Amino acid sequence: MRNIKRFFGHGCFLTSLTWTVLFFIYLNYIELKQLLKNVPFKRAGPHQAFPTKVSYNFSNFPKQIRPQLKTKDVKNKLDHDIKVTNNIVISPELDVIFYESNRKIRDLGFEQHGFNVFISNQLSYHRDVPDTRSIECKAKSYPYYLPVASIIICFYNEVLSALLRTVHSVIDHTPQYLLHEIILIDDHSEFDYLKEDLRNYIKENFPENVKLLRNYKREGLIRGRIIGATNATGKVLVFLDSHCEVNKMWLQPLLFAIQKDYSMVVSPLIDAINAYTLKYKPSPILRGGFTWNLHFKWEFVPPSKLLGPEGAAAPIKSPTMAGGIFAINRRYFFEIGQYDNGMNIWGGENLEISFRIWMCGGKLFIIPCSRVGHISRNVLPQKAHEIMDSLQYNSLRLAHVWLDEYKEQFFLQRPDLRSKGYGNISERVELRKILGCKSFQWYLDNIYPELEIFPLPSKEN
Ligand code: UDP
Ligand code: MN
Repeated sequence: MRNIKRFFGHGCFLTSLTWTVLFFIYLNYIELKQLLKNVPFKRAGPHQAFPTKVSYNFSNFPKQIRPQLKTKDVKNKLDHDIKVTNNIVISPELDVIFYESNRKIRDLGFEQHGFNVFISNQLSYHRDVPDTRSIECKAKSYPYYLPVASIIICFYNEVLSALLRTVHSVIDHTPQYLLHEIILIDDHSEFDYLKEDLRNYIKENFPENVKLLRNYKREGLIRGRIIGATNATGKVLVFLDSHCEVNKMWLQPLLFAIQKDYSMVVSPLIDAINAYTLKYKPSPILRGGFTWNLHFKWEFVPPSKLLGPEGAAAPIKSPTMAGGIFAINRRYFFEIGQYDNGMNIWGGENLEISFRIWMCGGKLFIIPCSRVGHISRNVLPQKAHEIMDSLQYNSLRLAHVWLDEYKEQFFLQRPDLRSKGYGNISERVELRKILGCKSFQWYLDNIYPELEIFPLPSKEN
């Protein structure tokens, strides 16, 4: 009897051990299948042996909307991860496998583009991103008849896979009848793959309303967007960066807001696509502000403004917009003076258009029911110089046109810029007069009373 008991005891033990092992293998198999779910066959890359399972290491991912790590830190972090995991790393955020042989592509990616090019090249152009909308937003419906949209995407030396994923994601997530056209503007990129390869891909894979324009010289994103807008014929212009992924029902809430109000300019809530892992993560409800350096910043919405009947679906009044992702009635865009075409390369245009919209009778809101993911990255080291130069130049232009006496707040932060040149602004000053725009004091009192004003040194000293 005791032998029988022992036999069954061991038997049970062995059976459960076997099941545990089988279950473990099954889980690993499922995991590998999951890993490969989003990898499109034709860009699967050189075939390598499946790695054995390794532990997760990316634990301290930056939480900010815009990570503040310098490229050097990013490299240290990557080196650390690679050392720990013996040449193979699985990112817990995305479950994509890194191989040591791909490190070069990754490092090059960070140097040139500020995000993980290796993962971008592995990911499907049609991947599912999480639906990050609130319950209130999911319950909302929109009219069938809405103004049609021209999507404008300006790019300079963009990673091909990121650019194509942006376009595919728009086509996948937008009802055809609302998508009047997609206009891509190549801002005189240097990479070969953005020439014939891109042209051919567009011809073979996209509908005819995806158009490609090329700038003869580098214009910068501000003139680039003006060129896109000038060529567009849809009722509404929607500007996107060339490394975005739009989410479910992203366009209708934007079009609906503009349909109801001609002078309404709207941004989606910009979700963060992590620059290291390309994982799509929801962002909290934030609004745009700025500092007296004339740098854009995200800030929490004062809680009193979130308590309306619409709750988490309510449009958020925003003193400024982040930049490249917003929608505006096409006629209204030109009526209020499009952009300052004297601005160069990058930066400052988002504050300029924000002040102009509010001060000249328009409105600027963030629509949290519209979600668009954007690869959030740092300014790249090799481009930092040209970007900082153009940002300073553009900021000076906008300070002299729009800030009135408050430009002294800017010079208090940046005394070095007081004597710097900023080109001819007479057309923009004239525009402000023609449009009968209000003062910057009005803007501060009514739109951004939370902004701190610093005491100026007295003139005698
Ligand atoms: N861009 C451009 N010409 C330039 C610089 C940028 O067309 O001279 C494009 C760029 O490819 C991107 C968009 O403008 O699609 C916004 O630039 P970026 O993503 O660098 O701005 P950020 O998101 O960092 O504000
Ligand atoms: Mn961008």
